[in-house]
Amino acid sequence: MPQKPVIGITGAFIKHNAFMEGVYVHHDYHRSVAAAGGIPIVLPFINPEAALEAAALCDGIIMSGGEDVDPLYYGEEPHPHLGYTNRERDETELALIRHALDHNIPLLAVCRGVQILNVALGGTLIQDIPSQWSEPLQHSQKAERSRDTHAVALEPGSWLAEILGEQRIRVNSLHHQALKDVADDLKVAAKASDGIIEAVEYTGSSFAIGVQWHPESMTATNPLMKRLFEAFIARCKKQ
Ligand code: MN
Repeated sequence: MPQKPVIGITGAFIKHNAFMEGVYVHHDYHRSVAAAGGIPIVLPFINPEAALEAAALCDGIIMSGGEDVDPLYYGEEPHPHLGYTNRERDETELALIRHALDHNIPLLAVCRGVQILNVALGGTLIQDIPSQWSEPLQHSQKAERSRDTHAVALEPGSWLAEILGEQRIRVNSLHHQALKDVADDLKVAAKASDGIIEAVEYTGSSFAIGVQWHPESMTATNPLMKRLFEAFIARCKKQ
């Protein structure tokens, strides 16, 4: 029997108290990867060199959600509503993304993940949707994480549309930032009705999908998101 693919999941910073701090990955990522046939492992941010050594163990990488990306990396000054940033995590993930795209390691980028994927390739971000976008939907939902709260239109012919077999789906929404200028090597794969970009795909030879919603928190109740994880894990199969 072939070995299951190993899926590295990047972690966010968490500080429990003065004595306990470290890396945090929402359990939904682990559950979703395992349910789709992969072995989830956590990728801590130490420095780019350590991250690339860890990436060598991985058949696929998930860029997880979390902190805002420091606007330094896309040439902007901080907006008053910019959230917590962590440059150690940013630098580690920027290196991981470039490495994965150069070495054909499949990438699934979630929420902050799609944002830093865009920044890694030269794109920019909306630092705060409510104060920088005209007539936005509610993208920071108050409903539980697993609940779908707004619709997105999928781009016909995109990997996402092919995998899900739909033109329009409903997703959860837990973000106050979004993509602004899309990097040259990415194409838009989904948008919300207010025009906010909700998914992009890499146009090069490597497989990389970025989504602004949290599919990992929907897989238990939404067959389409389960299918997205299964399609990603299938791309990560050992050859
Ligand atoms: Mn949204």
